[in-house]
Amino acid sequence: MSATYNFCAGPAMLPQAVMQKAQSELLDWNGLGTSVMEISHRSKEFIALTEQAEVDLRELMSIPANYHLLFMHGGGRGQFSAVVNNFLGNNGKALYLVSGSWSKAAAEEAVNLTSHAQIDRIDIVKNDNNINTVVVPPLLGKSDEYRYVHYCPNETVEGIEIFDDIESPWPIVADMSSNILSREIDVSQYGLIYAGAQKNIGPSGLSIVIVRDDMLSMPSLPQSSIMDYKLAVKHGSMYNTPPTFSWYLAAEVFAWLKSVGGVKAIAQANVEKASVLYDFIDGSAFYSNTVAVQHRSVMNVTFYLTDEALNSEFLFDAMTAGLVALKGHRSVGGMRASIYNAMPLAGVEKLIEFMAQFAQAKQ
Ligand SMILES: *Cc1c(COP(=O)(O)O)cnc(C)c1O
Repeated sequence: MSATYNFCAGPAMLPQAVMQKAQSELLDWNGLGTSVMEISHRSKEFIALTEQAEVDLRELMSIPANYHLLFMHGGGRGQFSAVVNNFLGNNGKALYLVSGSWSKAAAEEAVNLTSHAQIDRIDIVKNDNNINTVVVPPLLGKSDEYRYVHYCPNETVEGIEIFDDIESPWPIVADMSSNILSREIDVSQYGLIYAGAQKNIGPSGLSIVIVRDDMLSMPSLPQSSIMDYKLAVKHGSMYNTPPTFSWYLAAEVFAWLKSVGGVKAIAQANVEKASVLYDFIDGSAFYSNTVAVQHRSVMNVTFYLTDEALNSEFLFDAMTAGLVALKGHRSVGGMRASIYNAMPLAGVEKLIEFMAQFAQAKQ
């Protein structure tokens, strides 16, 4: 069987070495004679796993000591509501930067959850032309008081990435679901970082939350206990039964990432993968990418066929060649190659070779 390369935006492919290890210990983990998903989350073996996962992720991201690391339920969207309910209280306001589909969805959730209030509590700054450019507004001059500013540094659907730090006098909350661990970031710039796991970390359902200690003193709203950051901190992310199997796989992905040189090394590999693909697209009249060059995502490469009538044939032929899940998000059409940490350069090279052959056959 020749290799299949899976370009799915999420749930995305996981490192092959991790999947093989999980397979080999599926029925007998740690010599216990049971799988890791069949043991108590409070057993000493599982607690040891979670402690190692925390040590590894703190090291990988250089997370400062005044930040808590939480493993929560509810994926990325679960955090859309959690940040509102944990930080806005009865009268707090927040600013949302909208640069694409996911930041827009986060803003909509915030508006919805605060719609019972008498006043508008969510301000939104939109990019007018979000596919072609990303405008990060100068926030320093804003006079309103915000509890936080929310943004999404990597828009998974459109393939737009914001690389510059956001300057803001208010704490920054970042949805890093699709670019966490893809490059080095300075965690101390953020009030809170969250990420659904299924792009760069592990199976869906789990979300990683990195929250600065002082953020926990903000007034919260009455809310579901399992989404309460303070309770999650107090109970070591085990207020209720956590998604243990996802946590285990996340731990394995962290260990794998360390073994391949950590975030710095993977970031170089990621830039290389993305560059060869964008260079190929730019050099071809058959394909195009419409995102401003400085905002092209390193994780999600979107592109269009000049002749869109060939879309289904392209996808079918790609699948036959072992290149799967290249269809763009239904809201933007076209194609999308998600090339997260687990995607090897060989997969991108095979994609380029296929794209070149397909273009040639049609010209
Ligand atoms: C995938 C994704 C989400 C949604 O994650 P769910 O786990 O499906 O809720 C949110 N934000 C971004 C940036 C994403 O890529």
